[in-house]
Amino acid sequence: MKTKPIVIVTAGDGPFANAKRALAQLDLAGVRGKRVLVKPNAGRLVGPARGINTHPEALAGVIESLREAGAGDIAIGESPILGVKTLEAFEKSGMAEVARRYGCALIDFDAVPPVEKAIPDARVVTSTKVCAPIYEYDVLLSLPVAKCHMHTGVTLGIKNMKGCLYRREKVRYHQLEYPPGAAWGERTLDSAISDLAMILLPDITVIDGSVGMEGLGPSGGERIESDFAVASFHPLGADVVGCAMMGLDAAEVAHLRLVAERRGWPIDTGAYDVRPADFRAHHADYRKPPTDISVAYPDVVLYDVESCSACLSTVMLFLKRFKDDMSQYLVDGKLHIAIGKGVRELDLPEGTICVGNCAKRSGTCFFVPGCPPVPTRIYEAITGEEPDKNEPDVS
Ligand code: SF4
Repeated sequence: MKTKPIVIVTAGDGPFANAKRALAQLDLAGVRGKRVLVKPNAGRLVGPARGINTHPEALAGVIESLREAGAGDIAIGESPILGVKTLEAFEKSGMAEVARRYGCALIDFDAVPPVEKAIPDARVVTSTKVCAPIYEYDVLLSLPVAKCHMHTGVTLGIKNMKGCLYRREKVRYHQLEYPPGAAWGERTLDSAISDLAMILLPDITVIDGSVGMEGLGPSGGERIESDFAVASFHPLGADVVGCAMMGLDAAEVAHLRLVAERRGWPIDTGAYDVRPADFRAHHADYRKPPTDISVAYPDVVLYDVESCSACLSTVMLFLKRFKDDMSQYLVDGKLHIAIGKGVRELDLPEGTICVGNCAKRSGTCFFVPGCPPVPTRIYEAITGEEPDKNEPDVS
């Protein structure tokens, strides 16, 4: 009988012990003497335990397990979102301190030219720019924080590989046009992630579920203390069980379903040897991202015609941070926002905020240039002032 891939779940002991114990329960004989590259979520300029970046103590737990297993060099690398400098993100996230504590190198993936990789049988991305340092290590370990994601359902170990894409290449994945008639479900981005998964997957995944993010992730949701970790050599198995620990069904996550179909891997937890067998006893119920912007913001009217998810992310983040300051800009009691190239043809009310170069039109709208613009640019375009809220623009 074919053996099931092993997936380890630990819970209840905090980010360090959960991550360390989960990884230590895998057979790590294969990492002895090997150079290991750890890819956490360190893509945003925010502090620890916000549910946005990987918890630094989960990183510490992973490093200790790898060391105890006899790993050679261990390095930590990232290519953050556009506008964030890698080493600053490592400092702010607390991961630079952990790297210093254990003598591990920090790698700015964007500091050297990328490697262009062809993707055979691609659905939407036929060739892509991958950060070159990925290929200098023997073992790639994905260390995501468990988050809901407004475009991709969740972001776990497989989606975390998008942070191995060079600089603006990440944005390109969000700017692929929606297929005609596609809903807010972001099928094109899902297909792009599954394309990447055909050429780049982690050798080991450890999911940090100590403090995750529910709702409007990857950065605009609410933190949730769920206190678990998941570890596996099987990239999909880790994510399938990660979803279960978030109270979600991986089969409803489009990019995971696509990876399962294209790789011929199972997407139900029963197909994996999950240890302990009663792992669900420790799960948390993450609130799913809303499927419609009007559910989260009933007094916002969004005109979205042929936009890409980069502009939609910007709008969601803008609303989360600044909506309460917009009362004097309401039209008939509503805030009207337009994104996407198709809105040029619409008859929009006076005072509509047209976000992104695609949405530029003559008339009486507030136009916010950029591709995509950042949330503070929207605020400045509307109010003519710089915002007081001194938060970084993350999208
Ligand atoms: S302006 Fe926005 S919708 Fe248009 S291409 Fe740029 S990111 Fe996409």
